[in-house]
Amino acid sequence: MTLSPSHKALVPFVSVDNMMKLVHHIGIEPMLRGLADYIEADFRRWELFDKTPRIASHSEEGVIELMPTSDGEVYGFKYVNGHPKNTREGLQTVTAFGLLANVGNGYPVLLSEMTVLTALRTAATSAMVAKYLAPKGADTMAMIGNGAQSEFQTLAMKAICGLKSVRLYDIDSAATAKAARNLRGLGLEVVSCTSPEESMEGAQIITTCTADKQYATILTDNMVGAGVHINAIGGDCPGKTELAPGVLHRSTIFVEYPEQTRIEGEIQQLDHDHPVTEMWQVINGTAKGRTRANEITLFDSVGFAIEDFSALRYVRDHIAGTDLFLELDLLADPDDPRDLFGMLQRAAKA
Ligand code: NAD
Repeated sequence: MTLSPSHKALVPFVSVDNMMKLVHHIGIEPMLRGLADYIEADFRRWELFDKTPRIASHSEEGVIELMPTSDGEVYGFKYVNGHPKNTREGLQTVTAFGLLANVGNGYPVLLSEMTVLTALRTAATSAMVAKYLAPKGADTMAMIGNGAQSEFQTLAMKAICGLKSVRLYDIDSAATAKAARNLRGLGLEVVSCTSPEESMEGAQIITTCTADKQYATILTDNMVGAGVHINAIGGDCPGKTELAPGVLHRSTIFVEYPEQTRIEGEIQQLDHDHPVTEMWQVINGTAKGRTRANEITLFDSVGFAIEDFSALRYVRDHIAGTDLFLELDLLADPDDPRDLFGMLQRAAKA
């Protein structure tokens, strides 16, 4: 909605409604592939970006975080929360919105919802990483934690890695039933399981995507066989992890940005100098990914600002030429830049 035609600097805004229309306009699987391409392209130019661990404000119930970055031309940030108790109150665990701005003049160029977009970008990142690390021919995934992220994670693995079968497990069987229903007819074999062990039968990829504000043990050491790829999504906060330390000690660990992951990821349970490999180096060929068929690879995902930046860039490029955005009167931009007060006075007369 154009709130005031008298200000010239209107900022494109993608609402939740328009984001959903954009996903359907592009198609969810093509969009997941497109997002993965944008994220991979930005991982290749990783060194160019400003990087900092996200700025977190913790409370008893959850966390609120700001995730900024810049490539020198465009600046971006995401506001995101994580409140595992929210679902019991009918609220989302994770909600988000984000912004891109022009580094040259500091003016915002895009404001967007990012709750749906975070689910898409997290899934696209998982699958982009699995493309490098999962064992050859991997086509079956255990999906442990069947909440908001789970269908996105599953579809990205299908669209990007050729997943054929997903084995769902959640402590809440209603969540599994919901995910199974949502994934029906999307070209995958969907198997509902009643234990984590059952979900891992025959799976070469294990995704853990649970929400619990504690050192949880979704995977114990004896549950994980040789040669699998673990995509660990849910442990993303101090004091909130999913894997037993024994699993970490048997795995080759890949991370986004070590400075943030050591605070928030599974590796917060390990010594501060425990070796990890940065994914951007695997992608640009300066570090090795999987080296042996029987190696356990672990993507200790926490979600990094550059992935959100890539996702916002993708949205900015794909809303161009559509009507899938509103124009927000977000910036006061008087014709005479020094006459902000005069603009305010004229508004009283109007
Ligand atoms: P959600 O609350 O919608 O779903 C979580 C599910 O986990 C629920 O269905 C719950 O019943 C299940 N669960 C909890 N404990 C379990 C257990 N012991 N075994 C099996 N299932 C269990 O949350 P969501 O939006 O799907 O997010 C899942 C997790 O992913 C959260 O912890 C969130 O913080 C994290 N996350 C990470 C990233 C990232 O980039 N790494 C991005 C988004 C979300």
